[in-house]
Amino acid sequence: MTSSERPFLNRRLAEFGTTIFAEMSALALSTGSINLGQGFPDTDGPEEVREAAVRALREGRGNQYPPGPGVPELRTAIAAHQERRYGLSYDPDAEVLVTAGATEAIAAALLALVEPGDEVVALEPYYDSYAACIAMAGGTRVPVTLRPDGGAFRLDLDELRAAVTPRTRLLLINTPHNPTGTVLTRAELTAIAELAVERDLLVVTDEVYEHLVYDAAEHVPLATLPGMRGRTVTIGSAGKTFSFTGWKVGWVTSTPELVTAVRSAKQFLTYVSSGPFQYAVAEALRLPDAYFDNFRTDLQRKRDLLGDGLRAAGFEVYQPQGTYFITTDITPLGEKDAHAFCRALPERCGVVAIPNSVFYDDPDAGRSQVRFAFCKKDEVLTEAASRLRRLAP
Ligand code: PMP
Ligand code: GLN
Repeated sequence: MTSSERPFLNRRLAEFGTTIFAEMSALALSTGSINLGQGFPDTDGPEEVREAAVRALREGRGNQYPPGPGVPELRTAIAAHQERRYGLSYDPDAEVLVTAGATEAIAAALLALVEPGDEVVALEPYYDSYAACIAMAGGTRVPVTLRPDGGAFRLDLDELRAAVTPRTRLLLINTPHNPTGTVLTRAELTAIAELAVERDLLVVTDEVYEHLVYDAAEHVPLATLPGMRGRTVTIGSAGKTFSFTGWKVGWVTSTPELVTAVRSAKQFLTYVSSGPFQYAVAEALRLPDAYFDNFRTDLQRKRDLLGDGLRAAGFEVYQPQGTYFITTDITPLGEKDAHAFCRALPERCGVVAIPNSVFYDDPDAGRSQVRFAFCKKDEVLTEAASRLRRLAP
């Protein structure tokens, strides 16, 4: 949509059209295509967690405004989860904040912490709400581009260091990374931590895919590294880990001062949300390790199923070590423009995907990259792969 079609939209948001996820899901619906675009599973999460939500609704827990910071049961469960998985200790009353998904946590953190004119360094390709929220906060985004290297995307630490200026307020990190599937290594995260300490920067780290990590990769929360606990705002979400993306239960863990700042912005965005679901997520976070292990094993298998299909169809596949997305390059198919390719894909073979070019400041950088989601039933992935084979040159 051009700016003349959005005459009332202010200058801060003028560059942002309809989010690509809405555009592509609408295309999937109108064409009856298999939707490997927007990242949501096609099966719901654990039955006992769904039942916990039903119970909370029936028992009248959370049907009226829950407390602003989130229900105590959930804040306690989030703190226990961070302790159990990572040895990070947070006070549920002062250091945990429940939000309307990670999306609100990102918005509230940026609105609370960024002064107009501040620079925010973010990894590119970036999740689209980062750019919009930095803009709404009046900040300037400074992208540091992850580049293909040996079949996967990697961060250039020198580029990251060079991106920091006296005007940098914070680093906005995302690991496991959407859309590339990169999981930053302990060495890379240590270098990021050292930079943050040396330049006295805040770090907002989006770790919503913390449990979706494959092969030998390990998710290392930035807050566990030396000097980081006091300067890091960590963002999590139930959507990805428990396959309930519609519930929109997310959270922030940080110091009392940083949580207070984020809550100050959050209270004027939604104030509160998802009352009964908060109780259900509290139970989900206490599921035994077997749940998380099985979920991960299952998704890794799906990654390989779709990855093999994409390779057979002629795509260059960047092997993701995390998230439920595969980024591909369409050049071997004789294609150049991801957006045009994705618009035509439903017509050509009944599949919807996401053009990564929209996640770059310089669209040329991601011009030939297309992202596919593999959080779908095996038979759906197999059918999509067989349809995509029609593209093989
Ligand atoms: N951050 C990243 C990197 C994401 O991919 C998403 C999409 N789930 C979000 C944040 C938003 O999460 P939520 O649905 O919990 O708002
Ligand atoms: N995080 C999901 C994705 O990357 C989409 C969430 C949304 O639609 N905003 O596909």
